[in-house]
Amino acid sequence: MHDAGDKNMGGARAVCPVCSMLVSRETRFASTFKQRRYYFCCKDCKAAFDGNPFMYMNV
Ligand SMILES: [Zn+2]
Repeated sequence: MHDAGDKNMGGARAVCPVCSMLVSRETRFASTFKQRRYYFCCKDCKAAFDGNPFMYMNV
């Protein structure tokens, strides 16, 4: 079966480093840390990452 989510999401995906959820790279919740781009599922995850990136960057 084809994943129905593919059509709607489009584009590349990333994993929220805080909660491991799949997110679209078109999200407005994103941070750049150590020249890497991180994408988040929600503003709370972005805030958690921004507050302590070292805790999440190796996920
Ligand atoms: Zn998240």
